[in-house]
Amino acid sequence: MAKVNQNFSNLVPNYLFADIAKKTNEFIKANPDKKLIRLGIGDVTLPLAPVVVEAMKKGCDELGVKETFKGYPDYEGYAFLREAISGYYKSFGADVAADEILVNDGAKSDAGNIGDIFSEDNTVLVTDPVYPVYVDSNIMAGRKILYADASEENGFCAMPDKNVKADMIYLCSPNNPTGACYTRQQLKEWVDYANSMNAVIIYDAAYEAFITEDDVPRSIFEIEGARTCAIEMCSLSKTAGFTGTRCGYTVIPKELELDGTNIYKLWYRRLSTKFNGVSYPVQCAAAAVFTEEGQKQIKVNISYYKENAKIIADTMDELGIKYTGGINSPYIWLKCPNGMGSWEFFDYLLNNIYVVGTPGEGFGKNGKGWFRLTSFGDRENTVEAMERFKNLLKK
Ligand code: PLP
Repeated sequence: MAKVNQNFSNLVPNYLFADIAKKTNEFIKANPDKKLIRLGIGDVTLPLAPVVVEAMKKGCDELGVKETFKGYPDYEGYAFLREAISGYYKSFGADVAADEILVNDGAKSDAGNIGDIFSEDNTVLVTDPVYPVYVDSNIMAGRKILYADASEENGFCAMPDKNVKADMIYLCSPNNPTGACYTRQQLKEWVDYANSMNAVIIYDAAYEAFITEDDVPRSIFEIEGARTCAIEMCSLSKTAGFTGTRCGYTVIPKELELDGTNIYKLWYRRLSTKFNGVSYPVQCAAAAVFTEEGQKQIKVNISYYKENAKIIADTMDELGIKYTGGINSPYIWLKCPNGMGSWEFFDYLLNNIYVVGTPGEGFGKNGKGWFRLTSFGDRENTVEAMERFKNLLKK
């Protein structure tokens, strides 16, 4: 008899986005004349930059000609892209070599799969609220999971507790869902904690391109000591609108050794067994992101989202609603006004001003009473949604 992985039965059904869709669709059906505005989406809406599209087309053309045709790509990605990414890291002071970078089809795959190379006996530490992939992938593997509380009191930046023993630590900064970011000093505390425990930090930098403040590191490799304890994952999904195109990268320092084993080599062994690389045109498109013109063009889109975030944040300020995020992040994480619960506030917004957001409790117990808005919508709708917020909530 084929037995299944019983750990899957320990997964909590994550109905968050299904429940949001159900409630929203019911509302639309009952109120076809009302103009709904969606500020719940975590997906981008602006198109790819022109240089990116051109590079992808050129890559396709090359595949159609015998002399430039390419078959299987290198498992870790073409050198031209890894060198471009390495140059990008150097531009903000992180020393990451091209041969420490592994190109993938987006950060979710590696964030979910990295556990393959670690023992099931490891204790995992995640922050709460949390991006659910870290939790669910470790439940699937049967690992014990501990939670570090992120809350209003610590500005949603959970910090290490020396009395808590952990082996694998997942950190995300700028954070999804809270938009909170670790400062250099805070990240150094995590690095020191991880090194003292011989633990590994799995650092998700998917939103690093939204950082503008100097004291917020864009990479954990800006922090002294990180090369002996950290793996970083990043993505072009939010940086350059690649959510549908699919390309990201993982960084593993060559000297990272845990439990007497070289981690780059171990991951490479896993990668070459279960993954056959990212398509050539997509890697060409990704490399275009890191050119001078590419950086200029993607920044136009990021600025657009950041301006949306500012419009939302300014409205919260005006209404006296507490929030984190919105400065170095596309997310605004707000405290539901008048003591409302997350789902209560969801219904209140939907039924009164036809605005859809994301209830915070879908991301963990500390999300109760909190709510996520995103800046990935279009400008006109963001402005209109905020006008509606003011009309509804102004005393
Ligand atoms: N990490 C975080 C924190 C995210 O929020 C997301 C997507 O929303 C991802 C990773 C996955 O991104 P990708 O599209 O690169 O798989």
